[in-house]
Amino acid sequence: SVRVRFAPSPTGNLHVGGARTALFNYLFARSKGGKFVLRIEDTDLERSTRESEAAVLQDLSWLGLDWDEGPEVGGEFGPYRQSERNALYKQYAEKLLESGQVYRCFCSTEELVKMKEIAKLKQLPPVYTGKWATASDAEVEQELANGTPFTYRFRVPKEGSLKINDLIRGEVCWNLDTLGDFVVMRSNGQPVYNFCVTVDDATMAISHVIRAEEHLPNTLRQALIYKALEFPMPQFAHVSLILAPDRSKLSKRHGATSVGQYREMGFLPQGMVNYLALLGWGDGTENEFFTLEQLVEKFSIERVNKSGAIFDSTKLRWMNGLHLKALPSEKLTKLVGERWKSAGILTQSEGSFVDEAVELLKDGIDLVTDSDQVLLNLLSYPLHATLASPEAKPAVEDRLHEVAASLVAAYDSGEIPGALAEGQSGWQKWVKAFGKSTKRKGKSLFMPLRVLLTGKLHGPEMATSIVLIHKAGSPGIVAPQAG
Ligand code: GLU
Repeated sequence: SVRVRFAPSPTGNLHVGGARTALFNYLFARSKGGKFVLRIEDTDLERSTRESEAAVLQDLSWLGLDWDEGPEVGGEFGPYRQSERNALYKQYAEKLLESGQVYRCFCSTEELVKMKEIAKLKQLPPVYTGKWATASDAEVEQELANGTPFTYRFRVPKEGSLKINDLIRGEVCWNLDTLGDFVVMRSNGQPVYNFCVTVDDATMAISHVIRAEEHLPNTLRQALIYKALEFPMPQFAHVSLILAPDRSKLSKRHGATSVGQYREMGFLPQGMVNYLALLGWGDGTENEFFTLEQLVEKFSIERVNKSGAIFDSTKLRWMNGLHLKALPSEKLTKLVGERWKSAGILTQSEGSFVDEAVELLKDGIDLVTDSDQVLLNLLSYPLHATLASPEAKPAVEDRLHEVAASLVAAYDSGEIPGALAEGQSGWQKWVKAFGKSTKRKGKSLFMPLRVLLTGKLHGPEMATSIVLIHKAGSPGIVAPQAG
């Protein structure tokens, strides 16, 4: 049965790269009816924190990537934090010692440094050349009796190669002669990272290891440990890097890189998930819009691309806009209404004004946070700036003064406010009559009206806009603006 895992190190925030790895694991598990396991790789005790672990879990939950087993939820293969599995690592390290696949190495740090320097001078790979790979039992007994500290070193075959069949990259092959015997347990009894990962993946019955390409060198070591412990080898799938637009590795200097930052900027989990899935995957059609459920239905690991995927924040924004507009209208209205209230633009987060304004303005919104400026634009009245713009002259010409005079009269007489109070139909009736009495229609009627009433040459649908602007003038809708 399919069992995959996402194994974050809780040393910081969840980055978009990690989120995509988690997503691919999730999609693979769900599309195969398998299990998605979460394991916390906190062997680096100095850099790992519980706060970071909680933040990573929160981000995963926010994205909607629920897991079947992990810390807190538990499961039959726990514990799910590496820091709680030390006894298990020890047990398997002893097993390898007994079978002779690891040996005790009593070399001091100085000796090891020297070995490295010599290898460097001779331009040889930095492989272990110390005597402990072949030391006699008596020599080992002697050092044990002396109390000399030792590490457990893995005996790497000195020739031949190791091959895996990566589900994304195809055949990957390493020559073993440059690897050298590596440490699996430090002299303080701490197992090293690659050893923990292997023991965990095997004892958690992980069937597929889907992770970032940068772990390929670890895979070589881990595959050797699998063989030595006679664990069945999982299938590997190494996902390519996420690149910045300049094709360098995506990093902080390119802007926001963590999921939390995007959430704070107003991105929706649906938009993030869809965009992350497209970083290296597509369903083979032109279609790019997918919900999480649709991704589960369409995902296949064979379609994951082996070349690097470029992170394009403009496209992410656009994608978010698609998902925002796809929300059920009550949801969208609630989201935007709450935003307007919390941004201090409106006094209420709901009501007919909000309903109508969201309906009118939603096309101009990709992020919920965009909605602030879009509403402020509608409500602003920059008539002077508009008339000074080069566009204004050909568009409005000299009709403005004429229309303005009649408009002011209609306003003052209470005709326009009365019509607007009846909403759109009232407004439309009034416009018709106004056109008749001023012998205007089409552009020569609507352009001057728009400019005079909204202060702008362009904007969303006019009747709704004007009714809304009028409503906004009623007390209690728009919050008093500072400055
Ligand atoms: N803990 C590793 C990381 O954060 C993941 C290791 C793995 O997936 O095997 O990158």
